[in-house]
Amino acid sequence: MSITNRRTFMLHVVVGGSAIAASQVMAQGAPLVAETDANAVQLGYKTDSTKIDLKKYPAHKAAHACGNCALFQGKATDAAGNCPLFAGKRVSSKGWCSAYAPKAG
Ligand code: SF4
Repeated sequence: MSITNRRTFMLHVVVGGSAIAASQVMAQGAPLVAETDANAVQLGYKTDSTKIDLKKYPAHKAAHACGNCALFQGKATDAAGNCPLFAGKRVSSKGWCSAYAPKAG
């Protein structure tokens, strides 16, 4: 690899890494989903999984929460994290919606 190619490569690594870090910082600062948001209402999202209407969602179990959902993009210990169903906003790790899918393993 020539010096020019190495410099170009390193520039791409630095710029690419900065873009990823910036998007993560932005996601951490994203607002929380409100239960009254249109798609939250549609999916039956609640910020507190214990408040789910079991008559409406009989498959819901007490242990089901965003923090252990396969779609939750954060650590189980995070208070909130991203969910692809709510772009640009974060869901509570103690929340739940009808699209819940348990994490594998
Ligand atoms: S899909 Fe999973 S992480 Fe997203 S809101 Fe529903 S339960 Fe929470």
